[in-house]
Amino acid sequence: MYGGSGKAEPRTRVVMVAEHANDIGGIHHVTAIAGDPQGNVDFYAGVLGLRLVKRTVNFDDAGAYHLYYGDELGRPGTILTFFAWPGAPRGRRGVGQVTATSFSVPEGALGYWAKRLEEAGVERDAPVRRLDHEALIFPDPDGLPLELVAHAGAEAREPWRKASVPEAHAIRGLYGVTLAEPGYEATAAMLTRAMGFRAAGEEGQHFRFEVGSGGAGGRLDILCVPDAAPGRVAVGTVHHVAWRVPGAAEQRAWRRRLERHGLDVTPVLDRKYFQSIYFREPGGVLFELATDPPGFTVDELPERLGMGLMLPAWLEPYRNRIEAALPALGPPVVGHA
Ligand code: ZN
Repeated sequence: MYGGSGKAEPRTRVVMVAEHANDIGGIHHVTAIAGDPQGNVDFYAGVLGLRLVKRTVNFDDAGAYHLYYGDELGRPGTILTFFAWPGAPRGRRGVGQVTATSFSVPEGALGYWAKRLEEAGVERDAPVRRLDHEALIFPDPDGLPLELVAHAGAEAREPWRKASVPEAHAIRGLYGVTLAEPGYEATAAMLTRAMGFRAAGEEGQHFRFEVGSGGAGGRLDILCVPDAAPGRVAVGTVHHVAWRVPGAAEQRAWRRRLERHGLDVTPVLDRKYFQSIYFREPGGVLFELATDPPGFTVDELPERLGMGLMLPAWLEPYRNRIEAALPALGPPVVGHA
């Protein structure tokens, strides 16, 4: 495409194309902490209409469920996951945390959602306008702050069609995350210089950034709250946010790049459904870079996703003991008031 001239400029352009191919593609998933796992399934699968695409255990703590929700296949960009810690204390939202996780819904859907949430007994405020979108803000059963963002183009992504939410209003994957930070300069510099984010607007204390192709699924807002107390990760708080990388080779390149920018990055960890590296951004939020492949159909057929307790090979020998220690978990029960 650029060959033939022998001048320096075309070579530079080839390098730029190669780097573009390794852009971060947006949010891969968000992982939070739940209390009661059944309440979590009832809310996310029953009320919000997401698909439970995987039930497994926390690979670092096999006594706790790890539940994954998403679209039909749990595609990257649609995934919200939970470690379930029944009986554990609630955490505290504060700086150094993801303090809002936002989902995309089609324009005009917020009226439907306001009524549906009210019928399910969920406290929610009137929709608010922020930057270029309208959002409905509400907590999950453990107090985790969520937002539904209505915007043009949301319907381009496919919903999970077998839920009880009409397709016209159904959630279309993640929209973005909000990070609470004492200041924003250090995080903004890291996002733009090390990770390829672009500044994309500001309003009051909200500073918006975009990555990948931008738009829904590629948005990060920094909420600058200098006087707020640090958060404490426990029930009802986000544990980390993961960003998409195309594959293992790109992930190794990202690992080297992040280290060159002075970040302390973990080795590659096998999460079975993706490969992961982790580091803390300057404001204290735990970031992960996760590969798109292999995805959730690596150990279950698409039509069976989320039905059985799936364990990685190294935990299979302990299946009986693990199953006996986990609380029972049935299909979602939606308690409409
Ligand atoms: Zn993760």
